[in-house]
Amino acid sequence: MEERKYWLEAVEKFRLNIDSIVACPNCQQGFLTIKDVAFNDEDISKGGERFIECPICDKFEIVLYRIPPKNWYSKNI
Ligand SMILES: [Zn+2]
Repeated sequence: MEERKYWLEAVEKFRLNIDSIVACPNCQQGFLTIKDVAFNDEDISKGGERFIECPICDKFEIVLYRIPPKNWYSKNI
């Protein structure tokens, strides 16, 4: 599964740099966008799920973070 590998690479790129420009591994047309959803809105440090989505083909990947990365929620303002 080659595509799977590219999704995992995208996850890692966004973990390191929230402003990464990553082309969709599925359609190669769209650029992936990010949304972080905390398990508990009152305490986002408890982690949650990061949705990485393609606006063109709607494919997405969800990553679960128990210990959120440094840039957790930085795109959610
Ligand atoms: Zn796509």
